[in-house]
Amino acid sequence: MAYESSRSVQPGASLPRSARVVVIGGGVIGCSVAYHLATIGMRDVLLLERKSLTCGTTWHAAGLVGVLRATYNMSMLAKYSADLYEGLEKETGQATGFLRNGSLSVATHGERLTELKRGASLAKLCQFSCEVVGPDRIRELWPLAHVDDLVGGVYLSGDGVVNPVDVTKALAKGARAKGARILENVSVLDIKIRGNTVTGVVTDRGDVDAEYVVNCAGMWAHRLARKSGVSIPLHAAAHHYVVTEPIADLPASAPTLRDPDGCNYFKADAGKLLIGTFEPHAKPWGHQGIPDTFAFDQLPADLEHLEPYLEAAARRVPRLREVGLKVVFCGPESFTPDDRYHLGEAPEIRNYFIAAGFNSVGVQSAGGVGKALAEWISNGHPPLDLGDVDIRRTSRFQSTPRYLYDRTTETLGLLYAMHWPYRQFETGRNVRKSILHDRLAAANACFGEVAGWERANFFAPPGVAIAYVDSWGAQPWMSWSAIEHRAVRGSVGLFDQSSFAKILVQGSAALATLNRISSNNMDVDIGRIVYTQWLNDRGGIEADLTVTRVGPEAFLVITGAASETRDLSWLRRNTAPGAPVTITNVTSSMAVLSVMGPLSRQLLQTVTQDDLSNSAFPFATSREIEIGYAVVRASRITYVGELGWELYIPTEFAPDVFDRITSAGAPFDLKPCGYYALNSLRIEKGYRHFGHDLSDHDTPFEAGLSFCCDFGKPGGFVGREALLRQKERGVQRRLALFRFLDREGRSYHEEPIFRDGIIVGRTTSGMFGHTLGTNIAMGYVRCEEGASDAWLMAGRYEIEVSGVKYAVEVSLRPLYDPGMNKIKC
Ligand SMILES: Cc1cc2nc3c(=O)[nH]c(=O)nc-3n(C[C@H](O)[C@H](O)[C@H](O)COP(=O)(O)OP(=O)(O)OC[C@H]3O[C@@H](n4cnc5c(N)ncnc54)[C@H](O)[C@@H]3O)c2cc1C
Repeated sequence: MAYESSRSVQPGASLPRSARVVVIGGGVIGCSVAYHLATIGMRDVLLLERKSLTCGTTWHAAGLVGVLRATYNMSMLAKYSADLYEGLEKETGQATGFLRNGSLSVATHGERLTELKRGASLAKLCQFSCEVVGPDRIRELWPLAHVDDLVGGVYLSGDGVVNPVDVTKALAKGARAKGARILENVSVLDIKIRGNTVTGVVTDRGDVDAEYVVNCAGMWAHRLARKSGVSIPLHAAAHHYVVTEPIADLPASAPTLRDPDGCNYFKADAGKLLIGTFEPHAKPWGHQGIPDTFAFDQLPADLEHLEPYLEAAARRVPRLREVGLKVVFCGPESFTPDDRYHLGEAPEIRNYFIAAGFNSVGVQSAGGVGKALAEWISNGHPPLDLGDVDIRRTSRFQSTPRYLYDRTTETLGLLYAMHWPYRQFETGRNVRKSILHDRLAAANACFGEVAGWERANFFAPPGVAIAYVDSWGAQPWMSWSAIEHRAVRGSVGLFDQSSFAKILVQGSAALATLNRISSNNMDVDIGRIVYTQWLNDRGGIEADLTVTRVGPEAFLVITGAASETRDLSWLRRNTAPGAPVTITNVTSSMAVLSVMGPLSRQLLQTVTQDDLSNSAFPFATSREIEIGYAVVRASRITYVGELGWELYIPTEFAPDVFDRITSAGAPFDLKPCGYYALNSLRIEKGYRHFGHDLSDHDTPFEAGLSFCCDFGKPGGFVGREALLRQKERGVQRRLALFRFLDREGRSYHEEPIFRDGIIVGRTTSGMFGHTLGTNIAMGYVRCEEGASDAWLMAGRYEIEVSGVKYAVEVSLRPLYDPGMNKIKC
C-alpha cells in the first residue's frame, strides 16, 4: 500500500541553500542513511525525494528480514537491521510491523542440504540460533508444507518480517527527530562538482550546496550517476509475488518458508500467503530509462512466465490448489552484476557516496547499510571490511547498458540458485579476452570470469568435453588441475596472467609518491621488484601488489584484475595535487605469460640469448630480454612458490612469444596451467590473496606481512605509526594456515575455526593442495589476550564445513618450502 506522507512536501516549502550531506532518495535505504547520519550526530542532513517516500521499490517489498547472508560481515549488517527494526517502534512511536517469526529453508536434494548446512555453520560463527531440521520437524514448523520430497532444512529463529513502508516511515520519523530534514517532491537533476569533489546538487527547485552527496536513488541511481561520470552498475528487473485468498489454518506467526529448489518463498501475510519467486531467467526492465513519472507503480504481471513456479509452489503447499489468488504483483527492483549491493565512495569523485543496487534484499540490509555508510562518511573509512560490496570492486564496462541488461537476466534467479563453489556466470561473458585467448581455447581451456576477463581456470585433456561439474565435493577437473599443479612443482607450467592490472607511475615525484604510499621501500635499484602493501592510516591493507622500478623515475605497479579500479583510485587519491607524477593504466598494452617451475630457466634459456642464471638474473629482479623478435620485460618473481619468470610482452608480440615458448616447451613437458592450479599452488605456499585473506581491516602484523614494512626508511609511510602502536600493544588476530588431516574435507571460505572446541575465527580461502595431498585453508584466529605464536601453536584446531568438524593442523609458516629454497636457486 502506498504511503501517504503526513509531512509531504508541500509545494512552496523552502529548500535550504546548503546542507552538510544531501541524501538522494527516500526509499528504505535513503531513510536509513539519513537516520544513522543524524544518530551519530551529523548536523545538516537533508534527504530529497523526487515524489513521496517509499514510492520507488520499497513500498511493495515483501518485507522479509533474513539475518544470514553469504559472509560473516554481511550477516552482521543484516542482524543489525533486524535488531534495529525490533526497537524502532519504541524509539519513534511508529509501528514497523516487525515480527521475529523465524525462517525455514528446505532442501529437496543432498547438495542443497549441504549448502544449507554450510549456512548453518556460518550461523554458528555469527552466533545465530540455527537448527538443522529433518522432514518431521519441517512439518511441525510448517504444517501446510508437503515434506515427502524433502531431505532436510535449516531453521533460523532470529529471522523476521516487517512492513517495509512502516519501517521507512519510522526511520524517517527517527531521522527528523534527530534533526535531519526530509523533503519530498524535490528531484535531484544533477550533482555539482568542482575539480573531482562534490559541491552540491542541482534540483528542480534550485541548487543546494553540500559537502557530501549520497546516491540512494534505487533503480534511478545508475543514470543519475552517469551524468557525473560515476559508474554504478545496476539494472532493474521485474520481480513477482502473488498473494492468496485467506487460508483458514495458516498461523499468523508461521516462519517464512524458503524453497529455493522450487524458486519460491512463502510468507504468512495477515492470514494469507504471499508467495515470491526468484526465477532463473528474469525479465530486465527500464532498459531505455525509467519514466520520471514512475511512483507507486507496478509492472504488468506475467502469469505465463510465473506458471512453472506457481506449480512448484502448489507442490510445496498443496493447499494452494484450493485457494484463489487475490493479488498478482510485479514490481521493479535493482540488480547488480554480481548480486551484491554497492556501497561506499565513488572512485571517480570525492565525497560522492553510494548505497544502491539491493538485489531484493534492501529492506533487510537497510539498517546495517545505513549505519555502516553513515560511519564511513563521518570517519572517512568503513567501520568493517566491506570489500564484498565496495563500489570499487566494479569496472567501468559493467555500466554499459547492454552488459547490464544481459547480466540481469541471470542475477535475479541466482538468489535461489545453488551457490556452487566454482559457479560461473553464464551471461555477459567474453567481455575482455587476452590476445592469447584462442590459443588457450585450442588447448581445451575452461574459462572463468574475473572483472570481465576470461581466464583459463583449467585445461581438459584433448578431446574431453570441458565443463564445470556442480558439486560441493571433488570435481573431475581437479585431476586435470592436479596435473598442472604437479607440472609447476616438478617441471614447468605456463600461465596466461594477462588480466593483471598494470599501472605505470612516472615523473620526478613518482618515487616519493610511491614510497609514501607503500609499506616497503621503493628507493631501490632500477630493475628491482618490491612486494609491498599500501596501507591506510590505521595500518589496514588497502592493496597488495608488486612494484618494479623500471627507470630512475618510472615504476610499474602490478596488481590483481579485481583490484584494478580500487588500486588506481587509491594511488590517484594519495598523489599530492599538482605533483609531477603521471599515472597511466597500461593493462591492455601488455600480455603476461608466467613460466613457472624448476625447469623454467632451462626452457626459457632455449628461446632467449639473455643470461638467466641465478647470478645474472637473481630473484626479485626484472629486466628486458629478447624472445624471438620481441623485447619482453622478464620479472623473476612467483605467486606459486617455484623458480619462474613473469613475462610482460607488448600485446601484439604475445602470440609469437607464446608460440615460441610452447614449441620449445615440449621436451620439458611444459603444461598450460589455469587459475585453479595457481590457487592450489599459492595456498600451499601461504601466499595471501587480497579480497580473501587481506582487507583494509587486516594489518601486516595480523596478516603475517610485516616483513614487507620498512619502518626505517626515510619519510616513513602511510600507516607506519598505527603499526608501531599495534606492535607495542601486540596483535589479537593472526592469519594462519591449516592443513586438513582428512583429505575429504573441502573448505572454501567463511567456515568457523575452532581452537580447543571454541570458535576463534573463520577461514578466508581454501583449496586442495595437490603437493600436500589434502585441503589447505587460511584464516584469521583471535585471542583477546594476544595471539602469540605460543598460543597459536598450542591449540587443537578444527574447521567446520557443512556441519562436520574436521581436524586440522595449524602453521604460521608456509606449508610448502618454508625456507624459500625452490625460489632462490
Ligand atoms: C516484489 C519485491 C519484493 C521484495 N521483497 C523484499 C524482501 O522481502 N526483503 C527485502 O529485504 N527486500 C525486498 N525487496 C527489495 C527491496 O524492496 C529493495 O531492495 C529496497 O526497497 C530498495 O530500496 P532503495 O531505497 O534502494 O530504493 P527505492 O525504494 O526505489 O528508493 C529510491 C528512491 O529514490 C527516489 N529518487 C530516485 N531518483 C531521484 C532523484 N533524482 N531525486 C530525488 N529522489 C530520487 C525514488 O523516487 C525512490 O523513492 C523486494 C523487492 C521487490 C520488487
